[in-house]
Amino acid sequence: MRAGVRPEDIDFVLLTHLHVDHVGWNTRLQNGIWVPTFPNARYVFSRAEYDFFSNPAHDSVRNKTSFMTRIDSVDPIISAGLADQIDVDGSDVLEGISFHPTPGHTPHHAFIVLKSGMERALFTGDVMHHPIQVCIPEWSAVFDADPQIAIISRKWALNYAAEHTAAVFTSHFPMTSAGKVMTYDHGRGWSFL
Ligand SMILES: [Zn+2]
Repeated sequence: MRAGVRPEDIDFVLLTHLHVDHVGWNTRLQNGIWVPTFPNARYVFSRAEYDFFSNPAHDSVRNKTSFMTRIDSVDPIISAGLADQIDVDGSDVLEGISFHPTPGHTPHHAFIVLKSGMERALFTGDVMHHPIQVCIPEWSAVFDADPQIAIISRKWALNYAAEHTAAVFTSHFPMTSAGKVMTYDHGRGWSFL
């Protein structure tokens, strides 16, 4: 609202993965019922990620909050007919917007690229949680379900960001959370925008 945009004005909500802190604003509680926060939006997310967090075989301690939040924050979106469940394969799902596989943090985590002319903006989700991981991608956060695969995804994402001198929008870095991946003689570093 502060930006002059009403919830009804939002066209698309793009989800990198289905952890509680990345879907919690999908819905709001109205008269005891969870309803879409953005009633005119298409909500785009990985079909495989949804299937993973719907399969009772995966309802473990680690995944508990994702199962809980699916019920109040994702299922109501599907019931309202607003979900576009996609295959995460790097192809454009909207004009100039693509979802790329970056598994590890969750099994079907996606890294979202926005292309405009020659410029790129990247929405990294939880490929990394702290700027130190730009310098030392081998360090994984405790929240990564498969740390070894997360490292491979993080290195791929960092290479992509550096190669395209992209504006990178992270989720958990401090300050603006946005920045660029810099390449120096001695390795990589992070510069906030
Ligand atoms: Zn997460």
